[in-house]
Amino acid sequence: LSDIRATELGAGEIGRTLLEIQELDTRLFSLERQIETLADKHRLDELKSRIEATRAELGNKEIELEELKSRQLKLDGELDLLTVKVKKEEEKLFSGTIMNPKELSAIQAEILSLRKKRDEMETQDLEEMEDIDRLRSDVGSGGESLVNVEAEERDAIAAYQKERAEEEEEVKVLEAERDELKSRLDPETVSMYEDLLSKRGRQAVVRIEKGMTCGGCHIEFSRTQIDRFQHEDEVFRCEFCRRILVK
Ligand SMILES: [Zn+2]
Repeated sequence: LSDIRATELGAGEIGRTLLEIQELDTRLFSLERQIETLADKHRLDELKSRIEATRAELGNKEIELEELKSRQLKLDGELDLLTVKVKKEEEKLFSGTIMNPKELSAIQAEILSLRKKRDEMETQDLEEMEDIDRLRSDVGSGGESLVNVEAEERDAIAAYQKERAEEEEEVKVLEAERDELKSRLDPETVSMYEDLLSKRGRQAVVRIEKGMTCGGCHIEFSRTQIDRFQHEDEVFRCEFCRRILVK
């Protein structure tokens, strides 16, 4: 194929080759856009921020749980001390060594007050135990959510990478096909094509629509021009947008 010299190609053949190159470039542009939006399609950013949010929430719950556990430990210690204190006062009361009624009623009052305080602390202790249970279950379900969303992310990344590899492979195939076609043309034609491609919205080669209109800028050609399209064999260009015209 590399033996085919550009000069040996007729105008019709050059036009058809340019059109094929344009069609390949159009597919390549659309593939490139697909690749650019692939991460969005698989919601990779969204999953990443969901994981971060779930991790942060779980971390907060874990800190809260640890704080509550150490507070409860302290409360348990205080309760034990109070129980010992109550016991000591009761022993004093029932020992029979204290006879003074004033002193005895003072001890009774002290016992009552200590018991009241102990009851209050026990209620608080129960409430904190409930809070700890609730937080433990929150931490458990938070951990599960994290595992789930991490698995979802792994699947999404795998699907993204697979699709990306397939599309990049397709890009390589199309590029090779396009470059082979370009090698059949003379370098000036190729660089004219490439220049138009970048300056004319990625559309360098267009068809003459209904034999009279530019497929790029949609200008209607003059009668003389239309006659030339019909009777002369050359690669035409639109006199308005300069795009390459193919019959
Ligand atoms: Zn035009």
